[in-house]
Amino acid sequence: MDNYWDRDVKFVPGVGEARAKVLERELGITTLGDLLGHYPFRYIDRTRIYRIGEISEASNLSYVQFRARIVGVAYAGEGRKRRFTAYAQDETGRAELIWFQGIKWIEKRVEVGREYLVFGRPSFFRGSLNMAHPELETIEQALSRKAESGMQGIYPSTEKITNLFGTKGMYRVICSAWALAGQHIRETLPEELRRRCGLMSLGEAVYNVHFPQSQESLRRAQERLKFDELLGVQLNIQQRRTERMARNNGFLFPRVGHAFNTFFNEKLPFPLTGAQKRVIREIRNDTVTGFQMNRLLQGDVGSGKTLVALMSMLLAVDNGFQACMMAPTEILARQHFATITRMLEGVGVKCAILTGASKSRERKESLEGIASGEVKILIGTHALIEERVQFLNLGFVVIDEQHRFGVEQRARMWTKNARPPHILVMTATPIPRTLAMTLYGDLDVSVIDELPPGRHPIRTVHYTDSARLRLWGFMRQEIKKGRQVYVVYPLIKESESMDYKDLTDGYEAISRDFPLPEYVTTICHGKMKPADKEESMRQFKSGEADIMVATSVIEVGVDVPNATVMVIESAERFGLSQLHQLRGRVGRGGEQSYCILMSGEKLSRDSRARLDAMCETSDGFRLAELDLKLRGAGDINGTQQSGMAFDLKIANPTLDQELLARTRDEAIAILERDPGLKLPENRGLEELRRRHSGREEIDFSRIS
Ligand code: ADP
Ligand code: MG
Repeated sequence: MDNYWDRDVKFVPGVGEARAKVLERELGITTLGDLLGHYPFRYIDRTRIYRIGEISEASNLSYVQFRARIVGVAYAGEGRKRRFTAYAQDETGRAELIWFQGIKWIEKRVEVGREYLVFGRPSFFRGSLNMAHPELETIEQALSRKAESGMQGIYPSTEKITNLFGTKGMYRVICSAWALAGQHIRETLPEELRRRCGLMSLGEAVYNVHFPQSQESLRRAQERLKFDELLGVQLNIQQRRTERMARNNGFLFPRVGHAFNTFFNEKLPFPLTGAQKRVIREIRNDTVTGFQMNRLLQGDVGSGKTLVALMSMLLAVDNGFQACMMAPTEILARQHFATITRMLEGVGVKCAILTGASKSRERKESLEGIASGEVKILIGTHALIEERVQFLNLGFVVIDEQHRFGVEQRARMWTKNARPPHILVMTATPIPRTLAMTLYGDLDVSVIDELPPGRHPIRTVHYTDSARLRLWGFMRQEIKKGRQVYVVYPLIKESESMDYKDLTDGYEAISRDFPLPEYVTTICHGKMKPADKEESMRQFKSGEADIMVATSVIEVGVDVPNATVMVIESAERFGLSQLHQLRGRVGRGGEQSYCILMSGEKLSRDSRARLDAMCETSDGFRLAELDLKLRGAGDINGTQQSGMAFDLKIANPTLDQELLARTRDEAIAILERDPGLKLPENRGLEELRRRHSGREEIDFSRIS
């Protein structure tokens, strides 16, 4: 039978070739199923029409509609910064409606003196209401419009989509898709399971998630769709786990030998924390079972994960295997290499480094040493998997992800090994195990829940740009005490050239205007040559430079204990986890450290919530949870970098943990009866599993 779900989206009325391309590029939508699976992330009550005076910051509305007359228009700016403003007014107040794009189109449609129904996302500047790119309808139009269902879905979108389809365009396209395919939606769950769990049919659920008639039907629709999504993911995870356990081909590390003991007895610079000891024991237990280890090591920034990684690698070496450690950036790889070579001096374990920037001699030496087995520990970046690295006998792999997951993790290289190495993924993001599996695939979790002794909590404050002189005064005061300062600028692909301009302007301002010119400022960013970057890092590490101006390249793992001040410019543009990572660059020594978040005056509600959270807590767990909540499912722009092993469109693994546990139990029970999902009544489940098979390249359980 023809499966409507897989039909090309271009056949949906109102889409066509050109728009289909945009849908694919912007939202990854290619089929009717994708389109019907593009769920609203918010619903608004379109029956309520506000007065301007009723809409305030405190009323906390994400979308709102009001009725008002346009009393004037204005143009400002030039070129890219051009904007068009319309002033709206009713008896209770005034609002500014602003367009940055599509000005030609909108200026023709806004008539001064006329009354409109205005719909959009409210924001506030000095307490007064404004709205960027609102939807406008003349009152006559609005009144003649047939009453829509009480709740209207707001769809995740991007700027391009909104420009092309209009604010409501997505809604119309979904209506057409439903008309075409709604009656042909095939049930995925076996009847018995669906009844037992009290879920509505899939068809009903898809209808009600797009066109809910009540809060209750919406809730039930969401429950059903989340169930499907999580069950699909769990079927994959559990199936892979069974496969992994059945293979029973993990390397054995029974010996604790010379390398480990020499390091432990003679080289260890400080006593291990209890948590570090426990995790090393867990890894040791894993590697004597005969099963391949897939372990996620969670430990907050600064908790000492590197040492655990190193000692685990020494275990591998003691058992005649090679180990490698993959870091997310060049700088971090070089730093790990330096730290680890230093710590292993006199232990007699040869280390090498390989990165994209390795010069031909370094590359040749590393590759040869690895192939011959002379090199025992290889440290590097993605070059480790991208280049043709031939290990003699790779037994242990550490991936230091430091929250940079989305990066292309084509871990295919390990297919070259006849048997899979043990894998340790390290992350600073503390998440529950079921959730971790949803993010990373099938794995076990270890936690370092204890910081090394003697750390002071970092003091975090939020300043607006007007406090810059105060900031500089404070920086000077700290530098006078002999400390060092980071100043970090955001770098976002879409506006890269502007970001670089901000960065270099900032660097010049500090070098030139900073109250005491004798201070040395250095700069570090991705466009510099590797050798220059390294020199700049060296200057800062050695203390020759007092101030390091950088992009978020320093987010990951840089370790300069004398640095006590982290200034984050345009902090509102960073995600919470990134802010937390950046802050973790200070507070590594015994001195009181500070994190200063700089932002403009005008902040969106979410940005403010992020900055407030940073000032309130340094608990990585709370921040991670809040981050997931704030980002939700709707903010496509914000989640590009999310990089989960499994895409979740509707379930929120933090909020839906109960459902996560339930679907896991169901998946285990289903697979026990029908491991290959071959039974006729499980056909739908197999389809569900296939649909949610996720992104292999970041599913570590698939590496082997
Ligand atoms: P992260 O978990 O963020 O990767 P690191 O491994 O970089 O943390 O460790 C942070 C700092 O703590 C380093 O300077 C490291 O030398 C130090 N450190 C690690 N373990 C201990 C310990 N047991 N006692 C004292 N300091 C430690
Ligand atoms: Mg680290």
